[in-house]
Amino acid sequence: MKLICIGRNYAKHISELDSEKPDHPVVFMKPDSSVLLRNNPFIIPSFSDDVHHEVEVLVKIKKVGKHIQSKFAHKYYDEIGLGIDFTARDIQNQLKDKGLPWEKAKGFDGAAVIGERWFLKSELENFNDISFRLEKNKEIVQAGSTSEMLWKIDELIAYVSQYFTLKIGDIIFTGTPSGVGRVEEGDVLEGFIEESSCFSIQVK
Ligand code: ZN
Repeated sequence: MKLICIGRNYAKHISELDSEKPDHPVVFMKPDSSVLLRNNPFIIPSFSDDVHHEVEVLVKIKKVGKHIQSKFAHKYYDEIGLGIDFTARDIQNQLKDKGLPWEKAKGFDGAAVIGERWFLKSELENFNDISFRLEKNKEIVQAGSTSEMLWKIDELIAYVSQYFTLKIGDIIFTGTPSGVGRVEEGDVLEGFIEESSCFSIQVK
């Protein structure tokens, strides 16, 4: 199973990090070892002083495919969920400055939260207009809608499948809206799609 992640897919998040708006989706991967095991706390790694939460809508691939056209992409998934792309921002900034890959900042153990609650197409009217949010200690820190994505789910599938064969069970992290921020020991992070809780994570 692979985790394919999209960076810079929401305009306001691009400006909060002073990044440039890309001509194509920014793509990176997380290894399967980065998945935070169910019911485990997230442990801040010792090599970072600035781990950020990035709440993201997830798409679960249900069919093998490559070179998928956007108009057929809907056949390759019927579930979406919510997760966190934990990012060691200090490490990422060092790597970015040197033009190096981001894996150490994004792929460490526990850096991928995959919420247990998944929604079927039949449960939500339009996957391209879903509101979601992240609460930190019961306060909303990030809120967005999939309608604000620069590249929609079907376009992302078309784009990434030009490079990577998509396999059953692969998950696409579709990018984060604005409001990313540092996590501290003792924080509780809870993610919602519409009004349903998708995960609740303790930070240690
Ligand atoms: Zn992200």
